[in-house]
Amino acid sequence: MTLYKGSCHCGAVTVELETETNPADIYVRECQCSFCRAHGAVSASDPNGQIRYIERSLGDIVRYRFGTKTCDFLICRHCGVYMGATMDDETTHGYSTTQIKHFEDRALFTKMARHPDYDDEPLESRLARRRRNWTPIAEK
Ligand SMILES: [Zn+2]
Repeated sequence: MTLYKGSCHCGAVTVELETETNPADIYVRECQCSFCRAHGAVSASDPNGQIRYIERSLGDIVRYRFGTKTCDFLICRHCGVYMGATMDDETTHGYSTTQIKHFEDRALFTKMARHPDYDDEPLESRLARRRRNWTPIAEK
């Protein structure tokens, strides 16, 4: 397992992705939803990895919801940087797609996907796609 670490601008929120997958084999996406476009978001996920978001102090992560309100967009309370999105799940710790621009090793993630536009995707297929493609959240 390799650990890829990243943090927000001020360092209050860190992210750790643990995976055996070569980062060059992980699809990198520029989601075209209005939130991701506003942030210039570049995200990636690995269904075979594990991810965790860590707050320096309780409450450093602000959770924002919009649209179908089926996932939380995690933003640093202090510096405003968008870190990734998480989805709750009844039988696991949830799933996440994360911002690779914050990783120290971001240059290793080179596999760009076509620009996906999920705006018109039905809710059920949207949730199933996330469970299939997003990174499982590690136990807290
Ligand atoms: Zn911050």
